[in-house]
Amino acid sequence: MSEKGGLKSLENGVLAKDLCVACGACASLCPYLRSTDGRIVKLHDCDLTEGRCFDYCPRTEVDVAKLHQAVFGRDRRDLDIGSTRRVVGARAIDLELRNRGQTGGVVSTLVSLALEEGSVQAAILTERRADLLPRGRIVRDSREVVTLAGSGYVAGPTLEALNGGSFENEDRIAVVGLPCQITALAKMRVSALDRRTPIDQVVLTIGLFCTWALSYGPFVDFLRKRVGRAEVGKMDITPPPERLLLVTTDSETSRIPLDEIRPFVRSGCDVCLDMTAELADLSVGTVEGRCGWNTVIVRTRAGEEILSRAEAVGAIETESLAEDYLGHLREASRLKKYRALKALEGKGYTDGGYLRLPNRLKRRIMSCGDEGP
Ligand SMILES: Cc1cc2nc3c(=O)[nH]c(=O)nc-3n(C[C@H](O)[C@H](O)[C@H](O)COP(=O)(O)OP(=O)(O)OC[C@H]3O[C@@H](n4cnc5c(N)ncnc54)[C@H](O)[C@@H]3O)c2cc1C
Repeated sequence: MSEKGGLKSLENGVLAKDLCVACGACASLCPYLRSTDGRIVKLHDCDLTEGRCFDYCPRTEVDVAKLHQAVFGRDRRDLDIGSTRRVVGARAIDLELRNRGQTGGVVSTLVSLALEEGSVQAAILTERRADLLPRGRIVRDSREVVTLAGSGYVAGPTLEALNGGSFENEDRIAVVGLPCQITALAKMRVSALDRRTPIDQVVLTIGLFCTWALSYGPFVDFLRKRVGRAEVGKMDITPPPERLLLVTTDSETSRIPLDEIRPFVRSGCDVCLDMTAELADLSVGTVEGRCGWNTVIVRTRAGEEILSRAEAVGAIETESLAEDYLGHLREASRLKKYRALKALEGKGYTDGGYLRLPNRLKRRIMSCGDEGP
């Protein structure tokens, strides 16, 4: 039986426990919840005992097997990184997309192509405002996509734009989001509650790899002390052993050790099991040790179709990835799961907390041992 709840349960079980990841799945659905400065805030009480806000939240019950079945129509094949059809290295051919993209510009290239050829009519992307606050944006013109390339590492309410958007004449929407946002989309799909979101029009989901995201307010206060009021351009994270956050402004690039920004990681990220957006059509991240190349995990036919077309029209180039690298990716993904389960245990959830995990997945994760993999 699925857990049911309304705004009160969301408030007690997620907001008050600081598990909210500000994904925006509960925002723009009713007048009682709003996203403000990177936080979800309650404006009024609501007495409903079942609500979409609770049902869609990625930090209320997540039945991993059920969501997997709903998206892929079968059980998961790979316990570490979810279902895969193929995993490749890729980068944009277009130099502007490659340079403005966070890694290799693959996400922006695929979204641009989908809009250009009409396989989607609108895309929900995330823009970073000048004050660094991320927010969801509906894009219908392929030329706009490149202006939103890049990542800010701050969590933001992207899905608010989907919920609040007007898509009467559009039945093909793409969404780019973090793993929590992709999970929320899967929960919208399986929800038995009256829709009132355009989830049935979402035909393509592109998930970003994510180890953690930052809390807007505390992180930006810290950053302003470090880099002043200068306009922030690209932000990037260097791979181990360096592990730095590089923040580029007009005048300099600040090199900030990741340990200094860890206090600003959202605590809702500590209990997240998903590094590779396992419920997306395509998942995209970096290739550690191969600068400017994306890792692309193709999970569904919709994902395969857009990637193959991008290859065919010469919008991206792909290459196979070394077995060593794939092993490392699986290990990193399993480590995130292991840490999340340990964090849940630390919070007193002996039964996995909000997560319903198939036993074989739980055994696989815990086989990491106390030191992790
Ligand atoms: C918070 C965060 C954490 C990440 N952690 C990792 C990691 O641990 N390992 C890893 O390999 N990769 C991670 N990534 C993904 C990586 O930074 C790149 O986004 C990815 O490699 C795609 O690169 P690209 O050049 O194809 O993207 P681009 O072509 O530059 O497109 C990036 C897209 O990301 C969207 N976007 C930007 N910021 C956000 C946001 N805050 N929330 C939702 N969508 C956003 C934009 O709409 C844009 O369309 C993370 C990204 C974010 C935002």
